[in-house]
Amino acid sequence: MSDLRDLYQEVIIDHSRRPRNFGPMPGHNHHAEGFNPLCGDKLTLYLKVVDGIIEEVRFEGAGCAISTASASLMSEALKGKSEAQAEELFARFHALLTEADEKQAANQAESLGKLQVLAGVRDFPARIKCATLAWHTLHAALHDQAAPVSTE
Ligand code: ZN
Repeated sequence: MSDLRDLYQEVIIDHSRRPRNFGPMPGHNHHAEGFNPLCGDKLTLYLKVVDGIIEEVRFEGAGCAISTASASLMSEALKGKSEAQAEELFARFHALLTEADEKQAANQAESLGKLQVLAGVRDFPARIKCATLAWHTLHAALHDQAAPVSTE
């Protein structure tokens, strides 16, 4: 298990240092802003959705390693997904981090692919909002919510 933890740690560090799909997106058709006041994480998420499929995802902002890595991993996971699949992924990811029943949470992990590297965050309740900020912002973007998302 400790080897797996080390591997997870490496993926998180890699994505926080070299976030994928980072930067503005000209021609996006959805966007939203998210803020996690507890930690100071801020991000703007851009989506290009065509016929209900998320074709492109990019984000900008500044935050802690967990929030940046989570947004980066999310941006990779969402490409090619339908809006409904994206919301479902959010629900499963949220359960992975917050489901009180460890077994139920572990059941989510397999279906989450690379996103499961953030599973360890469940042991640090204060950081859960860092890990879910990008996803709450995604939800807002898909619903064209104009007001910035706050995790508080
Ligand atoms: Zn944070």
